[in-house]
Amino acid sequence: PDPDMSDQNAVASASASAPSPPPPPPPPRLPPVLADDRVSVSVEACLKPSSTARIDDVRSAIERMLEKRSLSYIDGPIPVPLDDPFLAENVERIRICDTDEWVQNHEILLFWQVKPVVHVFQLSEEGPCEDVSGDGQLPSFNEWMLPAKEFDGMWESLIYESGLKQRLLRYAASALLFTERGIDPFLVSWNRIILLHGPPGTGKTSLCKALAQKLSIRFNSRYPQSQLVEVNAHSLFSKWFSESGKLVAKLFQKIQEMVEEENNLVFVLIDEVESLAAARKAALSGSEPSDSIRVVNALLTQMDKLKSSPNVIILTTSNITTAIDIAFVDRADIKAYVGPPTLQARYEILRSCMQELVKKGILSNFQDSDHLVVPNFASTKENLNMPEMQETQTKFHLCKQLLEAAEACEGMSGRSLRKLPFLTHAALSNPYNCDPSRFLCKMVDTARGELSEL
Ligand code: ADP
Repeated sequence: PDPDMSDQNAVASASASAPSPPPPPPPPRLPPVLADDRVSVSVEACLKPSSTARIDDVRSAIERMLEKRSLSYIDGPIPVPLDDPFLAENVERIRICDTDEWVQNHEILLFWQVKPVVHVFQLSEEGPCEDVSGDGQLPSFNEWMLPAKEFDGMWESLIYESGLKQRLLRYAASALLFTERGIDPFLVSWNRIILLHGPPGTGKTSLCKALAQKLSIRFNSRYPQSQLVEVNAHSLFSKWFSESGKLVAKLFQKIQEMVEEENNLVFVLIDEVESLAAARKAALSGSEPSDSIRVVNALLTQMDKLKSSPNVIILTTSNITTAIDIAFVDRADIKAYVGPPTLQARYEILRSCMQELVKKGILSNFQDSDHLVVPNFASTKENLNMPEMQETQTKFHLCKQLLEAAEACEGMSGRSLRKLPFLTHAALSNPYNCDPSRFLCKMVDTARGELSEL
């Protein structure tokens, strides 16, 4: 029996003789946000493309497996247990995510400190779908079903310091939770617009896409379907300039239709929003037809309309690093500056590049595995200061070289850094079976060359 109801009955019978106001409705029964003081750690499990298993069944199987496992927790893959035929048949990989922010000084979380939260998903292999109307009337945009194969691994590949990724994830998670619980927006105000701004090539667009992918995985029990619509603000003007704001209205009508399906979580990515401000300014000064002002206004109106829907998150990017003079900056709740990579981020980006080249056999590996074991930035810094470690092992020699390369790349964007190993390889006189040390030497030269051309 429902205890709340029996309480109400008791109150009702006790006061039967005298009419009294109706009892207050029982408080809604919602699970507490945190049931205990263990740390919630996300465990993501990707289903095989061929799998037709129910997500709930796989989740329960993984939860049982984790209970038995009793191991400590650090970020990274966990092998799919081959002695569990159900999991072995259906699950491609399992990964522990986001323990980093809890783990300091190389400590690891012990299993009893952790409450694993399992997210099971299957990647969509559909690819982007352009211009869904097919009548050629819509401004250029792309649409993806999430989580999409194209964005797999993107989140992990983006390296920032200062917990930027975690901050964005938590922000979006809180926004969705507030919506879910029906928090009254007149009492507590929040919205679902994120603006990332900073110099070109710092990974803003990628971060928006990766965030959408992450959220589609983390929230898939509430929203079984997620979509990402990518609109390039610049193209609204260059391509459809003379077509006025009607086209924008039409595009947003499409988005509105997606949003009306309440099980859909919809992400709208508007890239290069500064072009809106530029167009508006040009229109006001009379150098461009007033058409463009209609486009900008239509876009802002549509964004305001969308904002009231609980299941939409608007992600915007801008390459303007100074204050952005544009109407909807006020509309954004979170404005995060994304800057060029720091020394630590550069080291980690280059380290991930080197590991990929070793894994795919472009670089030889003295360590006799397909994985180049180069310590991360923090332990490299620590060990390089210890005289007994210096020069004694090839590994530490490599760390030092990698650090030098990262130092030489000061001022490069993340995009240029990710291209650098390719340019280095193309510049090698003998590119076959190159050893990592020789490669890193060449990389420093290549970086200097690239920077001198900036
Ligand atoms: P933006 O939108 O800021 O111009 P992009 O999202 O187009 O940047 O970034 C281009 C590519 O550069 C990314 O896909 C990624 O490979 C690389 N990149 C940029 N910043 C970083 C970073 N901080 N960590 C790792 N890769 C990065």
